[in-house]
Amino acid sequence: MRIGLTGGIGSGKSTVASMLVSLGAKLVDTDAIARSVAEPRGAAMPALEAEFGQSILAEDGGMDRARMRSLVFADIQAKKRLESILHPLIGAECERQAAAAASGQAIVFDVPLLVESGRWRAIVDRVLVIDATEETQLRRVLTRSGWASEAVRAVIAQQAERAHRRAAADAVIFNENLAMPELASEVQDLWTRWTGIVAR
Ligand code: ADP
Repeated sequence: MRIGLTGGIGSGKSTVASMLVSLGAKLVDTDAIARSVAEPRGAAMPALEAEFGQSILAEDGGMDRARMRSLVFADIQAKKRLESILHPLIGAECERQAAAAASGQAIVFDVPLLVESGRWRAIVDRVLVIDATEETQLRRVLTRSGWASEAVRAVIAQQAERAHRRAAADAVIFNENLAMPELASEVQDLWTRWTGIVAR
């Protein structure tokens, strides 16, 4: 079974991913993979340099992310060219990691922008959404990081709205006013429902 796990920033998605791993899932961290292909010597670097020129190279030989962001912000065609290079490589690496799962082992794809990107729905069997109110998202991220609250609000505003995300879900865990053991118990119940595996 292939589970797509998603949720807004601060929803508790990473926490749930760890819980699923403890229950026996194989985790594929798509965000880490997306970063790695455009790091120094990353699989996308030769094609990115050929397509966009040396000006998008950072000093370390990886992609200059700020420069690329400003390039694609103003130019939808550039964004499409960038995605046509990155997406197949990210997809291939996700599949390579998924192939390392044991026979019968459930695979959890952690995809922050699953709902926003569209192409993931066909790749997973089930979508699990971790939901929390925006106040809680903000509070958790501020506690976790040194971010300014405006920066967190800006990320929340860029991501899919909660209702939109929930509408794409096969199951939703509302991670609000839940103590960690309660969250773990909800994750375990869902795991048993979906995989038939009863945790010891
Ligand atoms: P995300 O991956 O969605 O950005 P995280 O899983 O990293 O979110 O959670 C954000 C922060 O909130 C972390 O510090 C995490 O420990 C904490 N957290 C998540 N869920 C709960 C909960 N039910 N009770 C208390 N703290 C929580």
